[in-house]
Amino acid sequence: MICSQNDIKFYEDFYLTNYNTLKIKAIAKRFYIPDNYGEMISLFKKHKDNTPIVLGNGSNVLFSSIKIERPIIYTGLIDNVNFSGSNLEVETGIKTQTLSKLALEKELSGFEFLIGIPATLGGAIYMNAGAKGQTISDNIVSCKVYDWENNKVLNLQKEEMNFSYRHSILKEKPYILLSAKFKLNKMPSEDIKAKMDENLIFRKNRQPNLSLPNAGSVFKNPENCELSAGALIDKCDLRGYKANNCEVYSNHCNFIINSGNANSIDYTNMVFEIYSKVKEKFNVELTPEIEYIGEMTKGEKEKWKILRHQ
Ligand SMILES: Cc1cc2nc3c(=O)[nH]c(=O)nc-3n(C[C@H](O)[C@H](O)[C@H](O)COP(=O)(O)OP(=O)(O)OC[C@H]3O[C@@H](n4cnc5c(N)ncnc54)[C@H](O)[C@@H]3O)c2cc1C
Repeated sequence: MICSQNDIKFYEDFYLTNYNTLKIKAIAKRFYIPDNYGEMISLFKKHKDNTPIVLGNGSNVLFSSIKIERPIIYTGLIDNVNFSGSNLEVETGIKTQTLSKLALEKELSGFEFLIGIPATLGGAIYMNAGAKGQTISDNIVSCKVYDWENNKVLNLQKEEMNFSYRHSILKEKPYILLSAKFKLNKMPSEDIKAKMDENLIFRKNRQPNLSLPNAGSVFKNPENCELSAGALIDKCDLRGYKANNCEVYSNHCNFIINSGNANSIDYTNMVFEIYSKVKEKFNVELTPEIEYIGEMTKGEKEKWKILRHQ
């Protein structure tokens, strides 16, 4: 049912299937779609006792099979972009693939890798998303964030964002990304387009597209290990392995496809099984990239505690 509160649209008992690339059938008690970040901030103030969850494109989340009681705020309509020469300011909900194409139009280099990542800016900064030697943090000048615990908007310089491999300060503090400023580099559009095409071809040959529901790389590449997460999984003979309504993708073992009606319990079991086999064979403890959203069952809690190395 669509409702409106102070003109901010929301749905009750909302199916999230089309809001996560894994196509998990989960339900949110309340799903808000604000038009601008002022509205998003007002939702945090309104739900002080039941802090909302911010959702971008849902390409790195696993939704719980238990109804999600915390309000979910979808950022997809908060997507203004302003260019000024090679500088730009971008709002949180813009799709990273749109951003990549806009930079190409302006003959600006730095976002070529984003053409293959089905994310929003907010999710990409939260994860410090990257590919082919580029990361979203490379060209950031500063970020505007909302500190919902102290009800303050802060301007953080790049050095204050604590970026590292798949990490930013958004994972450490009660901060929500509102917008970010970038400085890109002038480059002829043919060269930018060539890099974008190279990125797309690389992905087409190795990674599943979204017609095979997935959430990108399942595990981070382990530090101090010669082999990537995908190679370790492959060496455990798990290529194409099917179980729990899921499947290890046959072209790249670090992707798990939802091959049926997988729910969070199925997906967790699959991730845990892979983690356990790699640990047993190589004594390497892989760490999942995906973010679990909602309440876990008892069994899931036990597995995620181990998966998060807690
Ligand atoms: C086919 C495919 C290919 C992929 N390739 C890559 C790749 O090459 N490199 C890579 O790094 N990742 C890749 N990914 C993973 C994923 O796209 C990235 O992690 C991406 O950054 C997630 O963005 P999102 O908008 O979908 O975030 P979501 O999945 O919506 O959210 C992820 C996390 O970010 C938080 N978040 C979202 N917006 C905000 C905000 N405004 N403020 C604070 N927190 C926020 C959410 O609460 C959640 O915890 C891929 C995924 C798929 C499906």
